[in-house]
Amino acid sequence: MPDDRSSPPPPPLRILTGPPMASFTLHGIPVSRGIAIGRAHLLAPAALDVKHYLIPEEHLEAEVLRLQEALAAVHRELQTLWNELPKDAPTELGAFIDVHALILSDPLISEAPLDIIRARHYNAEWALLTQIDELSAQFDEIEDPYLRERKADIQQVAERVLKVLMGSEPLPVQGELDIDDFQAQMIVVAHDISPADMLKFRDRSFIGFITDVGGQNSHTAIVARSLDIPAAVGMSQASMLIEQDDWVIIDGDAGVVIANPSVLVLQQYRERQLAQQRARKKLNKLKKTAAVTRDGTTITLLANIELPEDTAAAMEAGANGVGLFRSEFLFMGRDARIPSEDEQFEQYKKAVVAMKGRPVTIRTLDIGADKPLDQTEHTALNPALGLRAIRYCLAEPQIFLSQLRAILRASAFGKVRILIPMLAHAFEIDQSLAMIEQAKGQLRDAGVKYDQGVEVGAMIEIPAAALSLPMFVKRMNFLSIGTNDLIQYTLAIDRVDYEVAHLYNPLHPAVLQLIAMTISAGHKAGIDVAVCGEMAGDVKLTRLLLGMGLREFSMHPAQLLSVKQEILNSDLGLIMPQTRKILRAMEPDVIADAVHALQQL
Ligand code: PEP
Ligand code: MG
Repeated sequence: MPDDRSSPPPPPLRILTGPPMASFTLHGIPVSRGIAIGRAHLLAPAALDVKHYLIPEEHLEAEVLRLQEALAAVHRELQTLWNELPKDAPTELGAFIDVHALILSDPLISEAPLDIIRARHYNAEWALLTQIDELSAQFDEIEDPYLRERKADIQQVAERVLKVLMGSEPLPVQGELDIDDFQAQMIVVAHDISPADMLKFRDRSFIGFITDVGGQNSHTAIVARSLDIPAAVGMSQASMLIEQDDWVIIDGDAGVVIANPSVLVLQQYRERQLAQQRARKKLNKLKKTAAVTRDGTTITLLANIELPEDTAAAMEAGANGVGLFRSEFLFMGRDARIPSEDEQFEQYKKAVVAMKGRPVTIRTLDIGADKPLDQTEHTALNPALGLRAIRYCLAEPQIFLSQLRAILRASAFGKVRILIPMLAHAFEIDQSLAMIEQAKGQLRDAGVKYDQGVEVGAMIEIPAAALSLPMFVKRMNFLSIGTNDLIQYTLAIDRVDYEVAHLYNPLHPAVLQLIAMTISAGHKAGIDVAVCGEMAGDVKLTRLLLGMGLREFSMHPAQLLSVKQEILNSDLGLIMPQTRKILRAMEPDVIADAVHALQQL
């Protein structure tokens, strides 16, 4: 390969340093409470496909070597390609390999990522992508279209290196990493993060999340809440305006992000952060206290979990059980490979055993809409109205049966309840129950144990279901109201779309009527009714739900103690008459004021 540099040098690189930026504030949608103060880490969509982890000090040089070896391997690969070029190959082909070889040996690719590994402790793949993102952004600013197009070449070279890296053995990273404050204070800024990708961050050292898009009750937001990390979504241009390593404050309660704050603002937020930490400590004292209203009514507080490991937080918060195990998270982020019956059984059993006899409500696969099984598959025109949840399961009976058998097998190890999502039709209920019987029969034939009295419940999350409750209470052992979808479908508001997020209103009279009707129909039929949507964890709505007669709340473990505190301070005798008035009201202002007044009682 010729040695001379045939393409002009790319613009100078900016890592870690840069001119101080002016402070600016962005307003979006609050999704997860608390205040986070840290450095921005910009995440490009492609970066989500590679592993992100921090390398301990003692392994840094080995990680540097891993990247150097991958770079050398790609160099050899290009050399081989060059040598094997047929004599009659078009000249552009040779030039193309030349450009890639030059890019590869440029210090911006061959050295800068090594510095990132050493300075930020990123693993090799992450360091390389961080540098490529930085370079790509610089190329976007170039006016010359020819030069701007070289960005694609850089990305192709990076892809070659990544391919080699992904095939090479990553370093074993064990236990807690001893990373300094700077590393541990990173806030992810991205255009969007899928729920499955969000879940990948659970053990990482990120302290907050900001995304350009997303709604308050998108599953990405729900996972952020379950991680109990401050987050704000629907921030519009955040990933364009905020720069790598900028200082950022997330006010997760207000949905506000402040970039490059002044020292004074920083100080004010640190004080608020400390006050919140003190308040949380105080709440911890309620862990063992039963949730009983002032006038003596006991309320059941359950936990929503995504993975069996979340049961630790549920037990820690003193939950009475699991009211919603979103089993689809076991199916997501696996390149569409469905977990086997045995794999699922192990996971369900893990959760059941961890809850030590407390009930575990396992919701059958609720795949689809913003939780696609395969990220690359987006064929439905309206995924939220498409083949999701029970519709998918009834269309894929083998997948459904295998999940049902796995859940039933876990029922031999503790109290399990089965919850079916997105039901609207009587035949869907009947078919689901028939398949549960079929799964039981298969287990019986195989001599496998399960709890014969396992209860089956329905999610009430489609208005049609809330308007045909006799059909449900006749067939089901319990109901659980999925307010997230119930609001979405009642108001025709996509819960993921930030452009209509302002219309997503839990206090819309139609929504309140449907919830109240469901609670009362369940009680009349003598079956339990829970709310497992996000409304159950919102302390501003605790008294309203109590007043509607709700006695079972299911929420993220992190919200449980605040809700318990509200219950302990509530008097049903005062709340009920006020709630009846709210349910008769039709004017939004009247409802909002009355709900606010409930909190003052
Ligand atoms: C709901 O819709 O309220 C619910 C609990 O289910 P999900 O948020 O997973 O759709
Ligand atoms: Mg739902």
